[in-house]
Amino acid sequence: MKKGQVYEGYVERMDFPNKGIVRCEEEVAVVKNALPGQKISFMVSKKRKGKAEGRLLEVLEKAPCEIESACPHFEECGGCSYQNLPYEEQLALKKTQVRRLLTPAFAQQMELEGIEGELDNYIDKIFEGIKGSPVQKEYRNKMEFSFGDEYKDGPLALGMHKRGSFYDIVPVRECQIIDADYRRILGCVLDYFTEQNATFFHRIRHEGYLRHLLVRKAQRTGEILIALITTTQEEHDVQPLVDKLTSLELDGKIAGILHTKNDSVADVVQSDETVLLYGQDYFYEELLGLKFKISQFSFFQTNTLGAEVLYETAREYLGDISGEGKKDKTVFDLYSGTGTIAQLLAPVAGRVIGVEIIEEAVEAAKVNAKLNGLTNCEFIAGDVLKVIDDIKEKPDFIVLDPPRDGIHPKALQKIIDYGVDRIVYISCKPTSLARDLEVLIEQGYRMERVTAVDQFPCTGHVETVCLLSKK
Ligand code: SAH
Repeated sequence: MKKGQVYEGYVERMDFPNKGIVRCEEEVAVVKNALPGQKISFMVSKKRKGKAEGRLLEVLEKAPCEIESACPHFEECGGCSYQNLPYEEQLALKKTQVRRLLTPAFAQQMELEGIEGELDNYIDKIFEGIKGSPVQKEYRNKMEFSFGDEYKDGPLALGMHKRGSFYDIVPVRECQIIDADYRRILGCVLDYFTEQNATFFHRIRHEGYLRHLLVRKAQRTGEILIALITTTQEEHDVQPLVDKLTSLELDGKIAGILHTKNDSVADVVQSDETVLLYGQDYFYEELLGLKFKISQFSFFQTNTLGAEVLYETAREYLGDISGEGKKDKTVFDLYSGTGTIAQLLAPVAGRVIGVEIIEEAVEAAKVNAKLNGLTNCEFIAGDVLKVIDDIKEKPDFIVLDPPRDGIHPKALQKIIDYGVDRIVYISCKPTSLARDLEVLIEQGYRMERVTAVDQFPCTGHVETVCLLSKK
């Protein structure tokens, strides 16, 4: 295959998260945003060390299980990868991806344990497949939209980045993974600033006003928090917008509206100053019978009902930690966010210690523990890598829920050095998990149970939960 040339072929499989593998002329190309079974044409856009990357041009034959996408933005929008697959097929695809990524770890474990036989049979005993999300549409409790233009010098847009584009924004007025309230709020804000002729912040020139719109809506309580993120390069009276938003007919209820000012050049939502325009700067969500106060920047699983399945699985995997009813065991919840997992385990533990780098989330975790009447939780703000050195207590069990990059190698070593009997590792990126498992297995841990849990229907993401025990 040559760069710049157009080829045709069948998509053999999709690798995590959305890489189509196409075999053609005895070579293999990776083409994003395809489906297994599709016949596609693609142009080779890169070729390095014999590996070709292609850009999808056209779907020549549909995949056998392909359906019409329910979302009109699907072809353009960079948010979802699998709107055109029935949910059962999405699950099968993610299950295969996780299994495939963890296969080397299973092989390593089998070899270390000196087990003979078929690798596939061995995996079948430990890998439990995938659990689906209880809701597959309108499931998100948080969405971060970007301002930009639909195309160069086109109209103001508010929505998601276009597939494969750094600049263009797709105004996702009909997005299917958020509910109607989000769509109403998005439409209202976009219409308002279009009328105002407000500018958006240009990512290269670093000029302009509008940056992001963050909307969070609790699935259980219906409370909504809205944050408009702008630079300080223009002055706009946002009070009329607040009036428009608060008079929208919504299914939920607006708890607060914030204006966050951010003049940094990085394309992330952060705050130099936040002004409260309406209501309060937090909202409440409920999960597995506990109540959580959530603020603008606190991490909280983005699919509340799906998170219940995830956390239940983690709790089940960890098993009985009550020490025959004595409740004297210490659990570390590392990368604890707003302390959800710590609080779920607290009723059966002696003590739970959560470690989290974002201070705002740690404060929220403390408030939440109090709110839920839990007195045996402690939350420490800081980097796991450093905090571990300062904690005097030793854990009996550890729960790990790191961000996408996985665990820092030095932090992982310190975690292993505790030598606890059981670790539950929750991972939002199976490629990182596969890397960390290699180290854990090499140093004496074995995978006892593994399952994928789908928190993000229609997208390429998937969570994996793994129970590790000390041999
Ligand atoms: N367990 C929580 C959060 C998981 S997300 C939940 O389920 O809700 C991962 C969390 O790790 C985020 O809150 C992130 O802020 C935090 N984090 C990222 N790097 C970290 C580090 N080096 N040390 C501690 N926390 C970190």
